[in-house]
Amino acid sequence: MLTISGKNCIGYADSALGAQTFQAVNPVSDTSFGISFVRATDKEVDLAVSKADEAFRAWSSTPLQSRVAFLKAVAVAVRSHAAELTRWYCEETGLPLSRAKTELERSCFQFESYAEAIATGFALSIRIDTSSAPGKPDLRKMNVPLGPVVIFGASNFPFAYSTLGGDVASALAAGCPVIVKAHPMHPHTSELSARIILSVAQELGLPDGVFSHLQAVDYKVGEQLVLHPQVKAVGFTGSIKGGTALVRLANSRVVPIPVYAEMGSSNPIVFTTDALTSRCESIAKEVAASISLSAGQFCTSPGLLLMVDSEAANRFLSSLSVLLKQTEPQVMLHPGIYKQYEQQALQQLEGSEILVNGLRSSNTIQPSLVRISGRQLLREPGRAEEVFGSFATAIVCENETELLTCLNALSGQLTASLYLEPHENGAFLISALQQFAGRIILNGVPTGVAVSEAMQHGGPFPSSSIPSSTAVGADAIQRFMRPVCFQNVTDDLLPNPLKIANPEAVLRFVNGLFTNAPC
Ligand code: NAP
Repeated sequence: MLTISGKNCIGYADSALGAQTFQAVNPVSDTSFGISFVRATDKEVDLAVSKADEAFRAWSSTPLQSRVAFLKAVAVAVRSHAAELTRWYCEETGLPLSRAKTELERSCFQFESYAEAIATGFALSIRIDTSSAPGKPDLRKMNVPLGPVVIFGASNFPFAYSTLGGDVASALAAGCPVIVKAHPMHPHTSELSARIILSVAQELGLPDGVFSHLQAVDYKVGEQLVLHPQVKAVGFTGSIKGGTALVRLANSRVVPIPVYAEMGSSNPIVFTTDALTSRCESIAKEVAASISLSAGQFCTSPGLLLMVDSEAANRFLSSLSVLLKQTEPQVMLHPGIYKQYEQQALQQLEGSEILVNGLRSSNTIQPSLVRISGRQLLREPGRAEEVFGSFATAIVCENETELLTCLNALSGQLTASLYLEPHENGAFLISALQQFAGRIILNGVPTGVAVSEAMQHGGPFPSSSIPSSTAVGADAIQRFMRPVCFQNVTDDLLPNPLKIANPEAVLRFVNGLFTNAPC
């Protein structure tokens, strides 16, 4: 039985040196509840990073199979604590049990699939060139772990992007020790998650400091972690303001480090007139469900709907309005998130044609929908900014040229969707969407991000801080690694995955071909 104590976990040691405490909030009753959590002190931050640094030497050089076994064992242990984890999750977020269960399974799958990506060698990106051309050296390159990594838990995914999240799983898979700065909106869920990871690590005899977990309600702990000289990278999911502040802080260090921040996105959907003419009702249903899902508290929630003015567009917006008005009220994750939603929604409602003005009261909302012209968007680019929560802006353009001009004016996005009929040529639209989005979806909504090697969850700024990276899928592991080339290094001195015999049978790109044969 694992006990939630309110203390920080500095490696395997519990610690509560601080005087400042905070409690969780139940967003349904809007009341504080549960035990008090002790905010980490400067000393505890320092100790956690020192332990991580110490653990790095041992952890980064353990055989790949040890890392694989650890990640897989975490998934097993998480499933065995599912009832307790989901109970805290629901109490701290107001989200339904069905969502908690799905998200928990997603977390387990992330740990398992990232383990596979290490076992197969996929994440190591091994390149070998043994070309015998005269004077050409023997070159062998692979990814190696960066060092201690700090991960900020996200408010909107207490499992899948927090202590049990994809950032933690990918950094551990990379061979990096992890220090989590837990999100204060779900401290019980976070601490229990941390204790599960630590109990597995201890059982497997992993070095003390491979994982630490710190609680805080203010920016100081996060800032101290990002500035700590022994920290080598940061993973973050949250607001544009928070993400950019951390990027700036990391760049102000004597030795700057990468901050992989996944931030805001309005996820535009483009509808052709033909698509709206032939599938008005079914598209309206899909889009309404996507806007409403979990009160829109997803980075992939659709916030912009672009179309050319037509009778079909008017019919679509009227069907969508009816469906959105029928949406059941939903409680937001936290009074703080609700307040921010209210402020952002009021800002967008002003000066727009209001099609649906949904409920906003006592942490509870229904979706809202407004309509503006393409010209208005071009005049007021702030109309395209993310509203975190169920809120959509329909941008109705005069013609296709204006629609393209609007698309060209958009900033970086995680996703862009296109509803198109099979007979239409959408190449020019796909090409316009590719300019600013990390993932392009044909005839589908952006919510739902599959965990897959082929997934891209990240896009140009401000959707993420490093557009060449993804926060979902096994390529996420590479964020916490760096390539090293071994030139003319003899077999006895090479790391295992690069040795001629390929003892771990990992996949390697050898002289132009993928193979796991010895070379
Ligand atoms: P947030 O305010 O960006 O905070 C996320 C985490 O980063 C928190 O742990 C926070 O610390 C920390 N942090 C933020 N700014 C910091 C700074 N300047 N220095 C050091 N640490 C900092 O996001 P949130 O609390 O999750 O939610 C607030 C808003 O973020 C939402 O209303 C929404 O607009 C947006 N959001 C967007 C996404 C998305 O995927 N696009 C996801 C979640 C939230 P503390 O915990 O100590 O405050």
